[in-house]
Amino acid sequence: MTLAHARLPAEHALPDLAAASRGLYIGGQWVPSDTGGSIPVVDPSTEAVLAHVPDAGPDEVAKAVEAAASATPLWRDTPPRKRSEILRRCFELMVERAEMLAQLISMENGKALKDARGEVAYAAEFFRWNAEEAVRISGEFALAPAGANRIIVDYQPIGICLLITPWNFPAAMATRKIAPALAAGCTVILKPASETPLTAYALAALYEEAGVPAGVVNVLTTSDPGSMSAAILADPRVRKLSFTGSTGVGRALLAEASKHVISCSMELGGNAPFIVFDDADLEAALDGAMVAKMRNAGEACTAANRIFVQDGIYDAFAAALTRRMQALTIGAGASDKTDCGPMITRKAVEKISRLVDDARQRGARALCGGEASDGTGFFYPPTVLVDVDRDSLMAREEIFGPVAPLYRFTHEDEVIDLANDTEYGLAAYIYTRDVGRGLRVCSRIEAGMIGLNRGLVSDPAAPFGGVKQSGLGREGGQHHGIAEFMEAKYIATSF
Ligand code: NAP
Repeated sequence: MTLAHARLPAEHALPDLAAASRGLYIGGQWVPSDTGGSIPVVDPSTEAVLAHVPDAGPDEVAKAVEAAASATPLWRDTPPRKRSEILRRCFELMVERAEMLAQLISMENGKALKDARGEVAYAAEFFRWNAEEAVRISGEFALAPAGANRIIVDYQPIGICLLITPWNFPAAMATRKIAPALAAGCTVILKPASETPLTAYALAALYEEAGVPAGVVNVLTTSDPGSMSAAILADPRVRKLSFTGSTGVGRALLAEASKHVISCSMELGGNAPFIVFDDADLEAALDGAMVAKMRNAGEACTAANRIFVQDGIYDAFAAALTRRMQALTIGAGASDKTDCGPMITRKAVEKISRLVDDARQRGARALCGGEASDGTGFFYPPTVLVDVDRDSLMAREEIFGPVAPLYRFTHEDEVIDLANDTEYGLAAYIYTRDVGRGLRVCSRIEAGMIGLNRGLVSDPAAPFGGVKQSGLGREGGQHHGIAEFMEAKYIATSF
């Protein structure tokens, strides 16, 4: 493991931190907070404060809902082709500015630049995909079974949407919601995570440049997200809540939304099993494990949280995975050399340490890593744990860090039971050369998304989402993502 030094971004790619923190974005204006409060944004690699963003008060929250309401008729009635062209322009501008956006993400989130570049490409795709979807929203027309009347189903924009996003993908989690919402004809208020608001504000400026009319997208930051979301959801003009974040906060938001019977989409936590059968292609399984575990340094809802390896291949897999983890370069996010950046906060490092210590007390052995790094920055080294007890805390909780715990199994039925023994059901991964077994196990695993001999499932063209307590609804996919932002209106007519 070597330490990479932060490299100054190329001149053309320097993010403008002052512009990205100049105000709340309401009705196409950059607005200061009436309360005068602000939230510091910290670089997790250096612990330096990068900028301060405004802490919105109740007045700004009301103004944002008003701005979204004022923009609704214009945007709803904008022809789909025109909406599509604006979304396409958002995609093009994101591609043009990809390096600047990646640098900004690396600075405020800490993720390795290569991960940040991947995120920008993924995030931009939601605009391209939904630009294409915006002109393909169609209704239904049928003769009623009794033959007496016709059934017409029209799909209409649901109304103003509150979008709340996490820090681990500051661009993609926002565009995965904004692009389909806008394609459907909705206006939105985005509340990005307090740790990574600069990317959301930089993107807001880009949407404006792409031609998104004032008020269609509004962005607010707050130090009191519970009060802000309660106030927004209490406004009867707000009809949709789309949330990505932890299951705990998701539950609280569902309770709040239920007071007003608001449509909810929930992208929540995960506890992904990564299953390697004896007959798997070992190199392919290792490649997949490195992606499923180490993309974003393990800070992903889809991250392999429990790696189940069959007896016959366990030792070889553990040794080879350890070699690959030890070869990773840990360092500052905004460096080309870094493979594994810092965690988002010191609290995140403490949580990982707590889980690793618990596993070791129950008999796990660290083949590499296993201790938080000293010094500046919120670093935790790539870690492989073997002989992990099935009752360890990390078998139940999201690790959200670069720790690969290996569990041993013998039989197919046994591993299916183990994999499903969790309240979560977001992603799962299966490695086997036996296609029949692969598909059989896929059908029995309780997860919304499965990588079969593949360590990456995210794709704007595929429905992303979870079962059980990992969420409600889907994002992306041919019609799934956009349908979350539409209501079906049925018209009965006789002729
Ligand atoms: P989090 O603590 O739940 O926060 C997510 C967002 O909710 C942030 O914007 C946060 O604002 C806001 N929030 C916090 N408390 C709130 C409240 N009481 N009312 C309204 N909003 C509130 O999650 P996180 O730590 O940012 O993200 C990590 C989690 O997200 C993990 O569990 C991960 O699995 C999950 N995730 C899921 C997906 C998916 O697609 N299923 C994707 C990515 C991440 P502040 O930042 O201001 O606190």
